[in-house]
Amino acid sequence: MTNPESPETADIVIVGGGIIGCLTAYYLAQRGLKPTVIEADGIASGASGTSAGWLTPYSHECDAAMLALSPATLRLHAGLAETLPAVTGIDHGYRPGAYLRCAVSDTGVTELREFQAQRASEGVDMEWLSGEETRAMSPWITAEVIAGLRSDNEPTVDSYRLTMSALQAAEMNGARVISGRVIGLLSSSEGAASGVRLEDGSEVHGGAVLLAMGPWSGEAATWLDHPVPVRPQRGQLVYLASPKDGDGPELEVGLNIVEHGGSLIRKRLSDTIVAASREFVGFDTSITTSARDELLLNAARLSDRIQNARISGQTACLRPYSADGRAYVGSVPGWDNAYLATGHSGEGIHYGPVTAAAVAGLIADGASEYDIAPLTPARAGNTTV
Ligand SMILES: Cc1cc2nc3c(=O)[nH]c(=O)nc-3n(C[C@H](O)[C@H](O)[C@H](O)COP(=O)(O)OP(=O)(O)OC[C@H]3O[C@@H](n4cnc5c(N)ncnc54)[C@H](O)[C@@H]3O)c2cc1C
Repeated sequence: MTNPESPETADIVIVGGGIIGCLTAYYLAQRGLKPTVIEADGIASGASGTSAGWLTPYSHECDAAMLALSPATLRLHAGLAETLPAVTGIDHGYRPGAYLRCAVSDTGVTELREFQAQRASEGVDMEWLSGEETRAMSPWITAEVIAGLRSDNEPTVDSYRLTMSALQAAEMNGARVISGRVIGLLSSSEGAASGVRLEDGSEVHGGAVLLAMGPWSGEAATWLDHPVPVRPQRGQLVYLASPKDGDGPELEVGLNIVEHGGSLIRKRLSDTIVAASREFVGFDTSITTSARDELLLNAARLSDRIQNARISGQTACLRPYSADGRAYVGSVPGWDNAYLATGHSGEGIHYGPVTAAAVAGLIADGASEYDIAPLTPARAGNTTV
């Protein structure tokens, strides 16, 4: 909580304690700046804490400008996997591992071939496997699978631990965290962002303001007098408990069925998850039996791991959905020192590091070493969600 009588001050005010806000705080603090993260709920209480944690650029529309940032974000993830646990003692479960996209019909085989050709044209080789060869990778793959495409560069992380670890490392370098809901932006007479106003009447002043509010980012449109076309897309996950002794090995390979979109991903620090529904139901984060049944049905065509598995949990959280499949990252038109970083839809964990490093560069040096020009919030004027 802040004191309404005496405003807090920070070098940079970051609104939102999800992966984008916390990683940006980390990179800014590494540059010697003192950011303050303001979070209305709990740190990583949104999708950043509940995601599947799969580091892939291929779960959404495969926007070309985003894809171009994928190698850089993978390199940054690998670096974070080295540095963060050493600094904070938190293992955030970064694990490289094989991932198999599978087909159960001729239509699926065609789709898989097209996917392979597209990736090859981008310089990414994926290995074609027969049904038998897929089953050699895991005994849990069903006889229904007739072909698979193997990828070895789509690791997984525990996104809750990654977000917490990044923030802890930032705090060790001078970042601060404030609990509270931001309700407006403060500006100087020259049109520069100079801080934020909170619901309790207090203010936090700063030399720059980053809005990293995930699916709630649309609220900032009135503060900025600029559209922020991001809306919530609910995603539900079902958790399967690890097999007991005698029930067979863990499912170590990630699996996806191209015809139906069902996925199974082994979270190394918890149970296997069955991912994920895509629903537009506003800010409703209820779990539903219909989503659970559909997710399990799709996954059962892919893997016998579903048979007799104990369901250990089900969660729902909200993706910050951007209609054109591209995040909004950069300076807000018409403002000095106001920045947006949001709209990563189902790939915010993957693109978190490159987004955060790019924004930190932009704020600290006035330029980013990564090409985020196509992600400019200026294009928002032409987009609707
Ligand atoms: C089911 C599911 C599975 C997913 N799986 C993957 C995956 O495998 N790989 C991947 O890369 N991505 C995945 N994603 C997407 C990823 O989780 C999101 O893109 C990412 O977490 C978004 O991070 P964020 O920081 O932008 O938003 P959030 O995590 O939503 O954080 C935003 C924060 O801002 C706070 N906030 C909002 N408004 C205010 C305010 N006015 N004042 C103060 N605080 C405020 C919120 O409380 C929230 O904590 C998945 C998403 C879902 C739903």
